[in-house]
Amino acid sequence: MENKNLKQLAVWAMGLVLLLLLFQSIHPPIPELEIPYSTFKTKLAQGNVSQVRMRPDLIRGEMKGDDGKTEKFRTLPLPDLNLVSDLEKYKVQKFEGEPDRSWVTGLIVNVGWIILFFGLWWLLVIRQVQIGGKQALSFGRSRAKQVDDKKKKTTFADVAGCDESKEELQEIIEFLKSPEKFTKLGGKMPRGVLLFGAPGTGKTLLARAVAGEAGVPFFAASASEFVEMFVGVGASRVRDLFDQAKKAAPAVIFVDELDAVGRHRFAGIGGGHDEREQTLNQLLIELDGFEQNQGIVLIAATNRPDVIDPALLRPGRFDRQIVVSLPDIKGREAILKVHSRDVKMAAAVDLSVIARRTPGFSGADLANVINEAALLAARRNKEAVELSELEESIERVMAGPQKKSSLMSEREKKIVAYHESGHTLVAKMLPNTDPVHKVSIISRGHALGYTLQLPTEDKYLTSRTDITNRLAVLLGGRCAEELTFNEITTGASDDLAKASSYALKMVTEFGMSDKIGPLALKKPTQEVFLGRDITQNAGYSERTAQLIDEEVKRIVMDAQTKARELLTKHKKILDDLAAKLFDREVLTGEDIDAILAANPA
Ligand code: ADP
Ligand code: MG
Ligand code: ZN
Repeated sequence: MENKNLKQLAVWAMGLVLLLLLFQSIHPPIPELEIPYSTFKTKLAQGNVSQVRMRPDLIRGEMKGDDGKTEKFRTLPLPDLNLVSDLEKYKVQKFEGEPDRSWVTGLIVNVGWIILFFGLWWLLVIRQVQIGGKQALSFGRSRAKQVDDKKKKTTFADVAGCDESKEELQEIIEFLKSPEKFTKLGGKMPRGVLLFGAPGTGKTLLARAVAGEAGVPFFAASASEFVEMFVGVGASRVRDLFDQAKKAAPAVIFVDELDAVGRHRFAGIGGGHDEREQTLNQLLIELDGFEQNQGIVLIAATNRPDVIDPALLRPGRFDRQIVVSLPDIKGREAILKVHSRDVKMAAAVDLSVIARRTPGFSGADLANVINEAALLAARRNKEAVELSELEESIERVMAGPQKKSSLMSEREKKIVAYHESGHTLVAKMLPNTDPVHKVSIISRGHALGYTLQLPTEDKYLTSRTDITNRLAVLLGGRCAEELTFNEITTGASDDLAKASSYALKMVTEFGMSDKIGPLALKKPTQEVFLGRDITQNAGYSERTAQLIDEEVKRIVMDAQTKARELLTKHKKILDDLAAKLFDREVLTGEDIDAILAANPA
């Protein structure tokens, strides 16, 4: 109620000020004729001036006008030493000095405006805060909610299908359980953990489960609520959030949507966003200010790793980065199991069938499938959820309000399986390529699938054969699609971009083209916006440019021929690989070796 009174007071004060200001502008003090000093002197000499009041900066008075009526006048004084004797000489009835009060009025008007301005600002703030359903004037406080311990704790048992992420978080849990154990030995614990992953993959859930497993309080806030319309509010909320957590330490702080403040500070035209930058800086200060034994771990989540400010990723800040990927077929089954714990399922329902039917679904989508199915079954007055409800709800979620771009049709999934198998097979068949560690058709970031090749040793020198083999691997994906479906898709654009850039480097930087010879022909810097003629600094002739283009094309074409030959020769293995990949969605290096071994070349 105190807030209400304050608000009312503000409204009244503002109304009053506004009224005064209005009054002043509608009713200017009495109209006075503004006359030049010379006119004043003339009138004085004519004996028409009856009264004079003088101020250092203004002379006012009454005089007889041209029509004989008495008028008020004002004029700006000039340095006139004889004025007083003139006044006496021409028999002005009354002349007097006047205290200089102009600054008082000025002050009142100015203060009026200031009050009006602040009043408006204040009202806006109060409204803003009330819209948020919060107490007035607490807008600098963090709105982070501490999750109640007495409520059902989230644990790792509630999170399924992301075992790798869980494993990486295990260490953090150990630390939160007994920080002394780690700090005693002088070890430095990670301060920040950044979870990368598509929406609905369970990032929030994982963070909550870390706190639950460790049995420590969990403070959650979304970075987007730090960025308010008032500069400085975000920074103060960050400070408050950390203060709250420090009091409860050991604790987990979770900041969702980190990209809202953590965007690259110089991204975008027009410089940084002041408020965002201040908030980010405060976050960095808090991160840097962690004492090792404070026992606080900051977990942040984002689905836009590409826009995160590199300053956040430096050692001592978010030095652990954990990818939370979409679940594979086994993961999906596990997630479905978790969510059907409290749902009555008909005995005939086989969740692995549902998992098979839902490639590209996130954990949130799957939770939704189970929930929709339960609702459908209830509407149909069934005793338990049956397969028909589950199937229907899959379609609902697929077509649902948030149409997911990541949802793959069977055909797309098949194409991606062939594409990735193509990369894998070419890599396996060519010598000196990095071993394939894992191949997956679960989309990650914007790639639909990926083939993970890890080098066995650090390489500092790469031979021409190595690069041409690598090019063949890159083109293998597209070739496999072409061979199988007689059609190429847009899915290979990234591969092509990489292949072209390697080939260009071979020709212009590494001197690996016989036609060009051992020359380094750096491309001119393409700073078009500087208004420079970009061909001017090319450093080579038009003819050489043409030759470069031809050589790049030849190299890429050669690689494509090589990939195509290999895949045609081993089409049977390609089919096997793609079928297994389609089925299981992820194949490890050993799986791949097993498939190759089953097909003696
Ligand atoms: P994110 O933060 O990555 O967008 P959330 O953690 O908010 O995703 O997930 C939303 C909901 O989806 C969770 O509350 C949970 O019900 C379900 N969910 C998501 N991922 C999983 C998972 N791996 N295991 C179990 N449930 C999940
Ligand atoms: Mg979330
Ligand atoms: Zn590819």
